[in-house]
Amino acid sequence: GVSGFGTPLERHGGLFPGIKRLTELVVDRGAGCRLFTREGERYLDFTSGIGVLSTGHCHPTVVEAVREQAGRITHAQQSVVYNAAALDLIERLLPVLPSGINTAFFCNSGGEAVENALRLARQATRKDTVLCFLGGYHGRTSGALAVTSSSASYRGGRAGPLPSGQVFVPYPYEHAGVSADDTMRALDAAILQQVGGDDVAGVLIEPILGEGGYVVPPAGFLSRLREWCTDRGILLIADEVQSGFGRTGKMWAVDYEDVAPDILISAKGLASGYPLAAVFAREGVSKMQLANSCGGTYGGNAVACAAAMATLDVFKAEGVLKNVLERGAQLQAGLRRIGGGADGPLLADVRGRGLMVAAEFESGAAAYYGLRTSLAVAISHACFERGMLLLPTGHRDTLRFVPPLIVSEDEVDECLDIFQEAVKYVTS
Ligand code: PMP
Repeated sequence: GVSGFGTPLERHGGLFPGIKRLTELVVDRGAGCRLFTREGERYLDFTSGIGVLSTGHCHPTVVEAVREQAGRITHAQQSVVYNAAALDLIERLLPVLPSGINTAFFCNSGGEAVENALRLARQATRKDTVLCFLGGYHGRTSGALAVTSSSASYRGGRAGPLPSGQVFVPYPYEHAGVSADDTMRALDAAILQQVGGDDVAGVLIEPILGEGGYVVPPAGFLSRLREWCTDRGILLIADEVQSGFGRTGKMWAVDYEDVAPDILISAKGLASGYPLAAVFAREGVSKMQLANSCGGTYGGNAVACAAAMATLDVFKAEGVLKNVLERGAQLQAGLRRIGGGADGPLLADVRGRGLMVAAEFESGAAAYYGLRTSLAVAISHACFERGMLLLPTGHRDTLRFVPPLIVSEDEVDECLDIFQEAVKYVTS
């Protein structure tokens, strides 16, 4: 039976082994952009828990709001009562949602929100097919995984027969040779060649591709997509789990083109680290929801809602969106200055919006420097040894910089210094 079972249990501290983890670091405490071990080692955190700690680790305003709410009420079950904190949160969110979006459903994770958004779109249109984008990431549950294509490893690992009802088209990515025109043609072709009749419920898109490489679509593309959907009675569903809630320097990435989706999905940074996700929709869409077709035990947890309201308070009090734009510009300019390796090719592309920034290495560069891993992995490792956490994306040879939105000018400089030293070490 269980011989050999002890080894992995020991190695993983009793946790299941299926999680791919950047480091073996055991973290005990966080403050702002720093993580600490029990031994007192400190790390500069440029992952922010994959874009979650928008106000940094343990922001005093968030901690205080959580303390207060935890002593008032924690769990006001949404199928039993109305939760005052959730109602207050909707009131606070309405002014910052894209125009026309005025209803909400709260749940616990991005993937769960995606599931609910797709079901809502299908109910509202009475159609089944969803068009989605190659390289997209939407979550690990079956329905969300069925529309995810950022890495074959997610779908491969006995994920089971996944639901059908989706067609993938290429994301517009000029650096990789896909223009906005190419994508629009692929959308038309999907309808003509792959979808039966006019069965399309919605188009699901990350307005900036996240796990798939921090790809910003060409200017004007999101507006064209909005028009294309409107002309055909297809719902536009924006997955802003990673790009939303201030990450790009505007509340939503769709705000860069003044595009209003019919359904907007939010999670991650929404509650500064507390599990909260939301599906927002135009009332005309959400009123089509079938009775008793959604729910969830913990959805809209009052403490998480309080953390979300405190996050909005910090945004206002500390001018966070302005900081995101300034620090993002500083970061991109610094990465461009670093430019080349010790004696050859290095950075092919620096891109992103606000504090969603990627550095992509030349495709031949890892081999040129005689590395056995990608440059992203080698440099991430060298950064870790120098006290900084930095994540690769799942796409090509790319690193992503996704610090807390309250990161300071000095911390961005510190990041650039460490990155430059790591580059020098890996390429010489
Ligand atoms: N959508 C996007 C765009 C994401 O980046 C993620 C998480 N990386 C998800 C959905 C899934 O969110 P969760 O991990 O909270 O289920």
